[in-house]
Amino acid sequence: MFKKFSAAVFAASVITTPAFAHDEHEHGDAAVAQQFIKTIMSTEAKYAHHHGARFFQNLAKGQHPRATVVTCSDSRVQSNMLDKTPEGDLFMVRNIGNQIATSAGSVEYGVNHLNSSLLLIIGHSSCGAIKAASGDYSTLEDPIKKELDTIKIA
Ligand SMILES: [Zn+2]
Repeated sequence: MFKKFSAAVFAASVITTPAFAHDEHEHGDAAVAQQFIKTIMSTEAKYAHHHGARFFQNLAKGQHPRATVVTCSDSRVQSNMLDKTPEGDLFMVRNIGNQIATSAGSVEYGVNHLNSSLLLIIGHSSCGAIKAASGDYSTLEDPIKKELDTIKIA
């Protein structure tokens, strides 16, 4: 699978995520979504201003990440938990349950084409995908079932 498999270092680790609730909101609430888009745009503008043009010009030249990171899509797991400045440094591959089976192409690209020297597979506590895969998930939507089918729990 990975041409440089021997050069890649596998590190399976677990990040303990605090189980805290964000502001609860109603599913599909358009007003909440619109307000969040405004917040995202404002945050992005501050981020761009803080970093300045040179920062983005350097990123535009290409990427040479030190690590390919496979981790869960869970919103409690963020790349800056691993690296204070992940831009250009971490090639992130995210999916439910931090699986390679459903993201092999992305992982292979990071390892073999971007030449990252480290492959990290990072799980976390209270993972909904692992919990779902441990039980009966037959009533879930087909795309979700397809991804959960690849999770093998000993
Ligand atoms: Zn998870």
